[in-house]
This record gives sequence, C-alpha cells and structure tokens, in this order.
Amino acid sequence: MNSSQHYINGQWTDSQGGQAVDVINPSTEAIAASITLGSEADTNAAVAAANAAFAGWSATSKEQRLDYLTAIAEQYQNRMDEMAVAISTEMGAPIALSQAAQAAAGLGHLKTTIRELKNFEFERGLNDRAPHDRIHYEPIGVCALITPWNWPMNQVILKVANSLATGCTCVLKPSEIAPLSSLLLAEIIDSAGLPAGVFNLVNGDGVGVGSQLSAHPDVDMVSFTGSTRAGILISKAAADSVKRVSLELGGKGANIVFADADEKAIVRGVRHCFNNTGQSCNAPTRMLVERSLYDEAIQTAVETANKTTVGQAAEDGRHIGPVVSQLQYDKIQALIQVGIDEGAELVAGGTGKPEGFEQGYFVRPTVFAGVHNQMRIAREEVFGPVLCIIPFDSEEEAIDIANDTPYGLTNYLQSTDTDRIQRVARKLRSGMVEINGNSRSAGSPFGGYKQSGNGREGGVWGLEDFLEVKAIGGWQV
Ligand code: NAD
Repeated sequence: MNSSQHYINGQWTDSQGGQAVDVINPSTEAIAASITLGSEADTNAAVAAANAAFAGWSATSKEQRLDYLTAIAEQYQNRMDEMAVAISTEMGAPIALSQAAQAAAGLGHLKTTIRELKNFEFERGLNDRAPHDRIHYEPIGVCALITPWNWPMNQVILKVANSLATGCTCVLKPSEIAPLSSLLLAEIIDSAGLPAGVFNLVNGDGVGVGSQLSAHPDVDMVSFTGSTRAGILISKAAADSVKRVSLELGGKGANIVFADADEKAIVRGVRHCFNNTGQSCNAPTRMLVERSLYDEAIQTAVETANKTTVGQAAEDGRHIGPVVSQLQYDKIQALIQVGIDEGAELVAGGTGKPEGFEQGYFVRPTVFAGVHNQMRIAREEVFGPVLCIIPFDSEEEAIDIANDTPYGLTNYLQSTDTDRIQRVARKLRSGMVEINGNSRSAGSPFGGYKQSGNGREGGVWGLEDFLEVKAIGGWQV
C-alpha cells in the first residue's frame, strides 16, 4: 500500500516536507503502518488539482458519472475483504462487524447514491404557473471532505460518492488515526479510471491539513463529520471565505423505554449502545426507563453487559473490540471515574481493563444506574461502551429529559402504544427517531439538530448538500 504518499492529480505523490506518523493497531498497540501528515504545499497541490479538474468534471453528463460510480462500486465490492481487514486494523472493529457493517456500509452508500442520481433532475421547471422559470442544480465546486475514525468508510463514501455524483471535485482528508481504509479507497478509485484531479487524498491532522483546507480560498465547501469541537473550529476557519460548511457532529441519544415496551427492548438497547464499542455518534447512550420497569431494566442491563465479551479485532465472533486509541481509552476511564464521583450507581463494569487484557485499548462494558441528566456522563459523549440509565415518571418528563441536551442526532422509542409513539416522536428535537428497534432505510437522510450539526447525508438530501441552486427567469421553451 502507498501509505506514505498522497493521491494528488491522479498520481501517488511523495509529500513535500510532511511528517511521518504511525498508525497503531488498537487491539495489539503494534505499529500497523506509517503515513505522512501532509504539509501546506501538499494541501495546495491537491486543491489546485481539484480546481483544474472542476471545469471538465462538472460538464460531464449524469450518465458518464453513473458509469464511473458503477465502476467504483464494482471495484469496491471486489476488495471488500481487504477493506474489512484495513478497518479492523486501524480502528479495532471486530472483523465480523467490519465485514457486515463497516465495509458493507460503504458499498451500500455507493449503490444508494447511484440509485438517487439516476432519478435526480438537475434541471426542472419552477411550477405550472411560471412556464419561463427554471431551477438548475449545479455542483458547488471544490469540496474538502474531512472524516473521523469511528465508521471510516461509512462517512468517507457518503461524502466522496455524493461529491462525484453531483459533478464536484474533492480533496479527502481522512482521520489520521484511521487512514488505511481511505488509502485503499484511493486505489479503488484510481483503478476505476477517473479523470486526474477529480478525487484527491491528502493525509494529515486537524491542525495541519484539516485547518488549511477549511480556510483555503479555493475550496468552495467543507463537508465534515467529527466532533462538535472540531466542527466549530472548521466553521470559524471557513467563515472568512464564506464557504458552505456541512456538519455531522456528535450525539447523546436518548432511548425512551416505556413500561409497555416489548420484552427485548432493554437487551436490544444495551447491545445497541455497546455496538462498535460504543463509538457511534448515534449510539443510544442514555436509556430513559419508566419507573415501573426500572428495577427489572437494571437487572437485564447488568446481565447483558456481563455477557458482552471483549476480544481482538482480528478474531471472528460477536465480541466488542478495543476502543481506538490510548487517548480515547484515557478519556473514557476518566469519565467512568467522573460518573462514580458524581454519585451514579455503577452496576456493571467500571474502570480498568477487562481481566486478561493487558495489551490493547480494551474497556469493560459499563452500566451506570441512578443517573441524573445533569451529570457529566449524561451530557458528554463518552464514546465507549458506557450506558447511563435514567428513570422517568411521565411521558412529558421523558420528552423533557431526552431534549435536555446540546445534541439532537438520533433518539429511540420503545413502546407498543402506537398513538404514544407517534405523539412523542413528533416532540423529539432530533434529526432522526427510530422506533422499536427499526433502523432507517437506505436513502433516508442522516443528520442532526442543534449541536449535532446542520448537514443531511444520504438519499436525495446527500446530493443536494453538494449542489448550488440557480433560479432562472425568462427561459424560452
Ligand atoms: P475529531 O473531530 O477529532 O476528528 C474528525 C476529523 O476532523 C479528523 O479527520 C481530524 O483530523 C479533523 N480535525 C480535527 N480538528 C480539526 C480542525 N481544527 N480543523 C479541521 N479538521 C480537524 O473527531 P473524531 O474523534 O475523529 O471522531 C469522533 C467524533 O465524530 C464524535 O464526536 C462523533 O460523535 C462524531 N461523529 C459524528 C457523526 C455524524 O454523522 N453525526 C458520525 C460519526 C462520528
């Protein structure tokens, strides 16, 4: 793999003065690869290549872009096993999860984008009463795509596929912690024969390449997924050049479990929270339980946590893997201690590594009961396998607690009362609501309210994020 190089203007390119940094396998703490954090000269070269390619790429027909996307999807499918191994190695997802969800999400998004693009009308009339008015959707230009490490291909493909589909050119800066999957994607895109400069990849960190792209005068849009902290810095850096900034940020999802929920609701909620070792922006980390079910729910949650096994990412099985890095491990340990110090009731797991795991960033599956929504563990993203259980007495109180957060990404509802479910779903201040264990279908928009961001990825909304709208009057038909 060309891991020390960037992919600029259709070529694997040596860095112009960048710095080498190791990629660590979180299961073993061993060095998995070395990449080069790009310099400002690398950033500028990639932006210049994307700029030069824009005129040609934006003039391609929808059918041409569909052909390229189809070729990329075919190559991606051929290399799915390699992709799953790359993801497991760089961020620690167990191989079964990498195959079935992490790598598979990338292919799913490619296929959905192809489907949406086929149906998308880039030029249309305004309405029946205005025969000379036209609405044209046009690519916004050069896009900087900045992504996190927790669902690497899920996030990267949502951005790359929609950027290519709309006729934009792009510079991808993947997470410096999980760059291997993106390097493989660059090989896949290279083999699909895209015109030079349409897709570029520069490795780098947030302070370097990330902020250079966000402030760059020749970048028209930043599409960012990551922490709210970085999203704010990117918005400020982008403000001077008034570029469009699309943000997919953190979350602190509530899972409201009413007493009449189906019998699997608690087990399902705990497993969902621990999925991907708790490293999902949309994880249901606050389980709100109606008082009459509360004691039973704690017992079930403890049993489920104690049954959750931890293991190496390379091993097959349904265990959870390590968390991504020493930094995240330390942050999670500190927050578990904060929970204990704040007076939450630790009913499963706790600080320290699980028994038998000295090496690797492994965390004990942890459950806190008796949590109050003002505690730090209920307000901040822990980003580890840590569940907070909060009791409630009425529907109104559950809604208030769910909405009392700076975030608004995904909330979850468990009840067999359809009227109540629909009433509550309407009152939740979040971009997504999932009911009784049903996730959303392909083509549904992903995005948040409040400090969870302002973008919508997936489906037709994913295309629109990368498009300008041109209104034309006096069009002769
Ligand atoms: P992060 O914000 O630290 O890093 C994300 C990316 O931004 C990385 O590529 C990083 O190098 C870059 N970056 C950091 N600082 C920057 C700056 N000042 N300017 C430009 N770029 C900068 O996040 P992370 O730790 O990689 O990922 C975890 C976070 O991502 C969590 O908060 C999680 O909730 C969020 N997330 C959100 C979604 C969503 O769709 N809403 C999806 C996945 C993850």
